[in-house]
Amino acid sequence: MPRRSGPPTKRRPAFVGSTLVIASGKGGVGKSTVAVSTALSLAKLSPGSTGLGRSLRVGLLDLDIFGPSVPKLMGLDKAGEPRLSKNGQLVPLTNHGIPTMSMGYLLPPSPDTGSASDAPIVWRGLMVQKATQQLLFDVDWRGEQGGPEAEEGAGGGSGLDVLVIDTPPGTGDVLLSLTQLMIIDSVVIVSTPQDVALIDARRGVRMFEKCGVQVTGMALNMSHLETGMASAAPLEVFGSSASFDKLAQELQVPVLGRIPIESSIASGGDRGQPGVLQNPSPSVESHAAAPSAPR
Ligand code: ADP
Repeated sequence: MPRRSGPPTKRRPAFVGSTLVIASGKGGVGKSTVAVSTALSLAKLSPGSTGLGRSLRVGLLDLDIFGPSVPKLMGLDKAGEPRLSKNGQLVPLTNHGIPTMSMGYLLPPSPDTGSASDAPIVWRGLMVQKATQQLLFDVDWRGEQGGPEAEEGAGGGSGLDVLVIDTPPGTGDVLLSLTQLMIIDSVVIVSTPQDVALIDARRGVRMFEKCGVQVTGMALNMSHLETGMASAAPLEVFGSSASFDKLAQELQVPVLGRIPIESSIASGGDRGQPGVLQNPSPSVESHAAAPSAPR
């Protein structure tokens, strides 16, 4: 019999209603911070505003295989390895009410720091592809993640409304596998105002378009610094946000918001206590509704 060829069939991860991908062209622009903050903020939406009459069940998947940040940002970098459910799937590790999965949980701890997320990974393409597939489709996102009812699959856990996915910077193998294998409901591209970041953000938007995925919006991180003086204009430390607006207009992608530089964001991330836990959106300027509603 002739072998079937053609692109693989796309699917959602099991027990996931809607997928929201956070991407960036460049590393260090705050993509993981935005992914973590978005997951926590979605989970904190009031039941009346979700359209479901209850809070959203939100999970966070860290697909940044070579530089996983989610374990550290979520305060789970010393949490140990995830266990396996009875059907052999990875059971997420939960903190701040958000179940998470990351390559950082699956690596041996670095001898330097004792944290698995710091261990270097030297892999060929096929191993990256296998790891991506496992993280995408071999995680049990049901219910009280890891609870006995989830393992039994007796309907005790009903899965996630939204899975937020943090991705590696750039347009490499992992992103390619993601766009080929998974149904993506929304994509947010994060950038900072510098030209080098904007050039890569444009590349990111074009890559998704090329793969047939419409980008939902762009967010500008580290847009400005509040001086604290009522009379003084905010300092645009990394350049004018006008270039970002121009790019968004040119690409016909909505601007979702601007996030200022705030020391509490950096220090909260370092402590595994994301800033949004204390202060939902201190001075974030939001321009649009949250990306696609979960189904
Ligand atoms: P990426 O995922 O794009 O590599 P990260 O989310 O890991 O970037 O952020 C890089 C660093 O910048 C982290 O230390 C993070 O805490 C810090 N950071 C991110 N956004 C902000 C911000 N708006 N203000 C201050 N620090 C920030």
